[in-house]
Amino acid sequence: MRLHLRGVILPGDEVRDLWVCDGVISFEPVRDAETLCGAGWIVPGLVDAHCHVGIRYGGGHEDREGALAQAEIERDAGALLLRDAGSPIDTRFIDERADLPKIIRAGRHIARPKRYIRELGIELDDERDLPQIVAEQARAGDGWVKIVGDWIDRSAGDLRPLWSDAVLKEAIDAAHREGARVTAHVFGEDALPGLIEAGIDCLEHGTGLTDETIEMMVHHGTALVPTLINIDTFPEIADSATKFPVYAAHMRDLHARVRETVAAAHAAGVPIYTGTDAGGSIRHGRIADEIEALAGAGLSRHEALAAASWRAREWLGRPGIEAGAPADFVVYERDPRTGRNVLDAPAFVVLRGRVYPRRDPVTGHR
Ligand SMILES: [Zn+2]
Repeated sequence: MRLHLRGVILPGDEVRDLWVCDGVISFEPVRDAETLCGAGWIVPGLVDAHCHVGIRYGGGHEDREGALAQAEIERDAGALLLRDAGSPIDTRFIDERADLPKIIRAGRHIARPKRYIRELGIELDDERDLPQIVAEQARAGDGWVKIVGDWIDRSAGDLRPLWSDAVLKEAIDAAHREGARVTAHVFGEDALPGLIEAGIDCLEHGTGLTDETIEMMVHHGTALVPTLINIDTFPEIADSATKFPVYAAHMRDLHARVRETVAAAHAAGVPIYTGTDAGGSIRHGRIADEIEALAGAGLSRHEALAAASWRAREWLGRPGIEAGAPADFVVYERDPRTGRNVLDAPAFVVLRGRVYPRRDPVTGHR
């Protein structure tokens, strides 16, 4: 199918013509192209940088059909590139489907016994095995490894780091030797210095950041994926942790200041990207909610969209809207930086040159 579109191509601000031929973008006219839109806003395919295809909503491993359905929901929301941030199942079969988003895998979560959600991760009895397991997961993934940096330690009644600093350093070095980047789940304050000083590439959640650890992130060039819509579940987690009052109070405090924390990190120059943490406790297809949440946490609407599109694509080594790149973009009737309702309703999603029109929210028909 040959397509022609005219509109404002973000992040630029001028109206341009764009063509699609054989699934690829061109800025040279293509003969016999069908005009898909004559005026609109064209945005590089959205990126959900923390999206668990393979974890069932409500918990547990997703099956093949369920994982396919999750990927389809993401596509219809405009999220065409997903960094999975850890999945308990092998989702390679999705790579064979031209109609589904591209997944950048992080292998399986790496944790310690009783120190993460049961049955999702690889649990190491001996922390000295971390470097070797990280290297294995680096080879199994698509350039990322996910470790669990902290979790509740029931004997201490609060969040505690899972690993000693020396082991983290060795493990992150091992991933880098394999050409992979490393990210970590981290909620509290105490695990942060060890992770950042060890040269970790990204932090997930990062609710425990302080001025001091933000400064360390800036120094090391560490990225942050706050997953704000997931942090909004912290009060519920606290409510259910009646046996651990210190932990519960800690979670409530982290939640209460998270928007200030993200704003401080952004103001200091920490690169921030959009991740929903879909799977488990968050439904898939909520990228617009997370963009909106970041826009309420110190980022401008332009910056929040950039964090979910062209800047995230650059960070993950994927092209935006450029000649010869795969035709992966989202078309809106109005400027998607004007607010929530525009972001929620893309006119078209174009993935590898194929057009997916908006579904009717009631009937589900296109
Ligand atoms: Zn997650």
